[in-house]
Amino acid sequence: MSLEEIKSRIQTAENSAGRTPDAVQLIAVSKVQPNARVEAVLNEGHRCFGENRVQEALGKWPDFAQRFSGLDLHLIGPLQTNKARQAMELFQSIHTLDRPKLAKTLARLAQELGQCPDLFIQVNTGAEPQKAGILPADTDDFISECRALDLPLKGLMCIPPVAEDAAEHFTLLAEMAARNGLSGLSMGMSGDFETAIAHGATHVRVGSAIFGARAYGQEG
Ligand SMILES: *Cc1c(COP(=O)(O)O)cnc(C)c1O
Repeated sequence: MSLEEIKSRIQTAENSAGRTPDAVQLIAVSKVQPNARVEAVLNEGHRCFGENRVQEALGKWPDFAQRFSGLDLHLIGPLQTNKARQAMELFQSIHTLDRPKLAKTLARLAQELGQCPDLFIQVNTGAEPQKAGILPADTDDFISECRALDLPLKGLMCIPPVAEDAAEHFTLLAEMAARNGLSGLSMGMSGDFETAIAHGATHVRVGSAIFGARAYGQEG
């Protein structure tokens, strides 16, 4: 599917949900995609991209940044504390703040660097043992903890369990954000971004629907 088609589906979903036009930011998830495909999307004028590995992102985006201005890069995969500094220097947003230790590291580095990307807290809405994220019951406290550290919280992010109705998870995430006064909702991927928009998503993370299937079956 082309970038234009995805954008027009986003517009239609915004309209039917009564959202304002451009309420939703499209993050084109370029992980594992060949550079030529990413470059084609850059040449169409798109500037907002998502990556799930810091190392992989460092291998391509500094080069692209020399040729394309106004990049808006989002880290959507797990962040190890020893890569936090590099991530903060490369990305404009980090969607995977998922534990107190990482919050403390980001706060310390923010002081040192004098800047910090926009942060989303990843919530494990399905309480899946294999998945990263703060448990729903702990989210309010973790938000307070991050605010006490002066971290620039933008919103919440979730990846619903594959076998469940995503809408319930989007609703839960939207409720948690609203009661904590957070405006950002990073939710919705290729298969469910329209549902996510209907439930208030402000950032949708769409990979395979734009770029085609990823090679090697690497899902992050
Ligand atoms: C890979 C990935 C996406 C994009 O998934 P698609 O199904 O290809 O749209 C979105 N969010 C996260 C966290 C991912 O790792």
